[in-house]
Amino acid sequence: MSSRQPTLFDAAPDPWELDAATEQLTAEVVFFDPPHGPFDYLVPAPLAARLRPGQRVQVPLGRGNRPIVGYCTAIAAKSVGQRTLKPVGRIVDDQPLLSPPMLRLAHWMSDHYLCPLGQILQTVIPAGVRGQAGTREMTFLSVPDAIRAQLAAGTLKVGAKQHEALKVLAASSRPLTPQELAQAARCTLAPVAELRKKKLVTAQVRRIQQMEALEQVVHREDHLVLNADQQAALETILAALREQRHETVLMHGVTGSGKTEVYIRAIEEVIQYGRQAIVLVPEISLTPQTRQRFRSRFERVALLHSHLSDSERHWHWQQIAQGQVQVVVGARSAVFAPTPHLGLIVIDEEHDASFKQGEQPRYHARDVGEQRASAENVPLVLGSATPSLESWHRASRSVLSTQHAVPSNEHADPPNPLRLIDMPRRVEDRPLPAVATIDLRTEFQSRASRGAVSRSLHRAIDEALADDGQVILLLNRRGYSTHIQCPACGFVAKCPHCDLSLKHHRKEEKVVCHYCDHEEPSPARCPDCSFDGIRYAGFGTERLESEIKARFPGVEVLRMDSDTMQRPGSHEQALDRFRRGEVKILLGTQMIAKGLDFPNVTLVGVINADLTLHFADLRAAERTFQLVTQVAGRTGRGDKGGRVLVQTFSPDHYAIQAAIEHDYARFAAAELPSRREHLYPPFASLIRLIVRSESDSAAEQFIESAAARLRAAIAAKKIEHRLLGPAPCPIHKLRGMFRYHVLMSSPAGELLRHAVRDVLDDLEPIEGVQWVVDVDPLDLL
Ligand code: ADP
Ligand code: ZN
Repeated sequence: MSSRQPTLFDAAPDPWELDAATEQLTAEVVFFDPPHGPFDYLVPAPLAARLRPGQRVQVPLGRGNRPIVGYCTAIAAKSVGQRTLKPVGRIVDDQPLLSPPMLRLAHWMSDHYLCPLGQILQTVIPAGVRGQAGTREMTFLSVPDAIRAQLAAGTLKVGAKQHEALKVLAASSRPLTPQELAQAARCTLAPVAELRKKKLVTAQVRRIQQMEALEQVVHREDHLVLNADQQAALETILAALREQRHETVLMHGVTGSGKTEVYIRAIEEVIQYGRQAIVLVPEISLTPQTRQRFRSRFERVALLHSHLSDSERHWHWQQIAQGQVQVVVGARSAVFAPTPHLGLIVIDEEHDASFKQGEQPRYHARDVGEQRASAENVPLVLGSATPSLESWHRASRSVLSTQHAVPSNEHADPPNPLRLIDMPRRVEDRPLPAVATIDLRTEFQSRASRGAVSRSLHRAIDEALADDGQVILLLNRRGYSTHIQCPACGFVAKCPHCDLSLKHHRKEEKVVCHYCDHEEPSPARCPDCSFDGIRYAGFGTERLESEIKARFPGVEVLRMDSDTMQRPGSHEQALDRFRRGEVKILLGTQMIAKGLDFPNVTLVGVINADLTLHFADLRAAERTFQLVTQVAGRTGRGDKGGRVLVQTFSPDHYAIQAAIEHDYARFAAAELPSRREHLYPPFASLIRLIVRSESDSAAEQFIESAAARLRAAIAAKKIEHRLLGPAPCPIHKLRGMFRYHVLMSSPAGELLRHAVRDVLDDLEPIEGVQWVVDVDPLDLL
């Protein structure tokens, strides 16, 4: 601090006096809608003691001082200088909705995903919690001490009924509602109201949750004896747990290697410390089987699935926040469960695309989970039979870096270590199923009947059924026909709002767009040339179902896809029927590929493995490998063993070859060089800017100017990078909007993000043009 000669007649106060005079208690507030803030507000004295970061507040916004609710994210004594700040109007929440660590996590997300904090908070806090769903305000009465004394001394002058009610209330061990008091004192509500009017009782309003805890009766299960691989995996996790340090562990275990059993043991230890665990699974894996498995091992489990009502979700959230829950099992958003003493995060099937949110904020639960685990000093366990190449690459880099220094270029993000645990065997020495391909090219030439099932697959199904086994058939496309074309004029039935062909759904005789759900009646003749022989081609699950029913008459068949599984609970009912053996053949989309454990399944058929292979997507090969491996893992889980038949036009493709041999390392070795060459993940971070508008030219103009600025800003960072585009998106028109994108990648992800943020912050909005930025995108359509 600089000293200043004191003078006798100082006109201006010393600088530090000025600070002291104008320093005020301020709250930083952000909003869900634009303008997102943050803005500073004054905290009026009466609110100062109650307001904390993480609570919502009502504040005046804009010229008209429109009252609006926002999140208070920080409170500080600030020198406000010449600024006149508006005051906070009212505090909305009694308690903060976010703990300080969760608030820091939200800040990290806002920074990483280039998304306003207000939007992040709206995602972190469930709607049911924000709306206090399933709660009611109730009034509770109690007797103040002074009145209590008068009552005891017999100096209180009130009517007999009021006196009786007062006595009852004073004797009660807890405050009572007016109704409860009237009932207990055997009077009407009138004397109670009279007591309140005379201020002889104090009234307090509290919010009460109405949900009742439903005690589930579950069958307790005993421990299994872990095998050597499981034991080693457990020890690794426990070491980090006991030292209370963060470590990310990738459990690469083949399907049926007993990964879940290891999670359960680690969680048991966490619970002994009085801490809580969060287990994330893909939504589709939240089957009764999974629930039963956790419920049978732990006393207090919260299962967060998408069919919960707002009230149920709020109730669970409160239970979790109060430390009443030991284990939270849920889909993507369960990563935000407000556990007060987190001990462990597990992400099962960590490669699954459902962990990435498809809308703003486009977060990935794996990356958010890692950030959270690291900030709270707890281990993160990732499990998969087919890890994402991002995780796999980190694991192999970590091995290398402990052996010798890995050369890295100057600006690249620092390596993020990850420990690999290998579980290459199934439990109890069960063999992995034998997988074989059926070459559709030769099948196609020799095939007598037109259909989706080859002769060899038909025979295999016959054998499996004769052996009293069950069959799973995967076809990753729903509907009946997938291509509707006029052979006379070439017309193709397309969605009027999207750039996509319509799919025929025969049961309802309609054609449907699978992106925007537009539907119209199936055309009997060509809408263009009126030719009446319009052709329906291509196979979806609905058509496969009728083919299977025709081929295997009398055999119970069940189709599982998003058309047949719309009602809540239908998925569970279907799986139950399959488990009980009422259904012999289960067919469906990728919905059936995940996590199911049916010992009696002896045959898995993949109808067409190429559907995902030739997608315009950098991860097409990875997705195909994952899907085939995962669905193959559904068989051979019992004593009967099992086999897998994969129909494909590309039997020599490395993704299919590696899946057949259950050889993840081979797949990774074949795929990684091209990723490196194109500067794609896992060698670089990816950011995608998407612009859309009802006007094709407006969207194009906007993206061109944005791309030029992005190019300049990234070049100025002097980092290795690639910028692709601007170009029309692979689906150029979607839901009536024309779409363009720019794809940027760099090994220096942090600097790339900075460059993009600077440009986005300055982008002038144009009427009718929207843009979104997707950091670490998975979907490139
Ligand atoms: P993953 O999660 O790797 O697919 P699971 O943990 O679901 O494997 O185990 C597959 C099956 O093996 C389950 O039915 C499970 O109960 C059983 N299992 C797991 N560990 C053991 C063990 N040590 N001994 C016997 N059975 C086991
Ligand atoms: Zn459409």
